[in-house]
Amino acid sequence: MAELNKLLRDNIRKLIPYSSARSEYMGEASVLLDANENPYNEPVNRYPDPLQIRLKKQIARIKRTTPASVFLGNGSDEAIDLIIRAFCEPKQDNIVSIDPTYGMYKVCADINNIEYRKVLLRSSFEIDVESLLDSTDQHTKIIFLCSPNNPTSNSFYRDDITRILKSFPGIVVLDEAYIDFSTGEGFLPSLTDYPHLVVLQTLSKAWGMAGLRLGMAFADSRIIDVLTKIKYPYNINVLTIETALKALRNPGNKEKWVSAILHQRDILEKELNTLSFVLKVYPSDANFLLVKVNKPHEIYQHLVKQKIVVRDRSSVSLCEGCLRMTVGTKDENAMLLDALKTYQQN
Ligand SMILES: *Cc1c(COP(=O)(O)O)cnc(C)c1O
Repeated sequence: MAELNKLLRDNIRKLIPYSSARSEYMGEASVLLDANENPYNEPVNRYPDPLQIRLKKQIARIKRTTPASVFLGNGSDEAIDLIIRAFCEPKQDNIVSIDPTYGMYKVCADINNIEYRKVLLRSSFEIDVESLLDSTDQHTKIIFLCSPNNPTSNSFYRDDITRILKSFPGIVVLDEAYIDFSTGEGFLPSLTDYPHLVVLQTLSKAWGMAGLRLGMAFADSRIIDVLTKIKYPYNINVLTIETALKALRNPGNKEKWVSAILHQRDILEKELNTLSFVLKVYPSDANFLLVKVNKPHEIYQHLVKQKIVVRDRSSVSLCEGCLRMTVGTKDENAMLLDALKTYQQN
């Protein structure tokens, strides 16, 4: 890895962060008159802990890492944006990523005026590692990867990701939003081997809390410190912290939901494969199925008429003819299949 200070933008390296009332005084106090809060209307009258210490401790315990390796953001999207802003100089640096993948990497790059280079996956949806590395140059600060990948639903070969980590000297962001649905264990256990690796996870999918907006970035504490320095002081609100703390005490719920979803995914896949207009259901390591059909727009509209909405991915690279279907409850999936069967009869 290149030296962190060389990868960082100058202004970020030199930045003196805002110091909030709640970060200047960190002890246990009973009379809080330091932050111009209203003394009434508990608990939301108080500013949240800007460092989210209790929540980070609990997440670190569950993820078998240390609180110093954890950054918490307003969804993974905040972490994606902050990583770009920390390392990429607008109109000068660039980002390399795979295509197709999650759309937010490019949107955040565009907002920050950073060149975004897409490298097409192979038709098997695997990474073309040579092309990816060939697309980097001395101005490439970040490579974004996503495994299991959205919308292709596959996990990449561990060896391919490792080769990228070993060859590229900049920051490698590996988005593991769907890792709890995967048969692989992901890269969190390897974090200590790669000081330039940032692993993104989220409470939005397996944990069933997309509405809370809590994303996690795991990395070397020096990278975490940079992200912490440039975030909004109170980026995670009091209600999110309290709700997440409570939910994380019951990891059994998440495990129960994941196994129910995986079971339903297998049933849905089998049933979809019996439909004449389904050309292919791609193998999934996530909570959704990428389904190639003969007439994606017509089938999409047919479902909408029956108040069922899936994602039309047919205009995405390598996904011609494809709809992306999230695995729902048993009843929801049955409704989807029933609706599809009435299309078959048309
Ligand atoms: C759903 C998803 C996320 C989650 O984003 P949040 O902002 O944490 O809700 C992140 N990455 C990918 C690839 C996703 O599909």
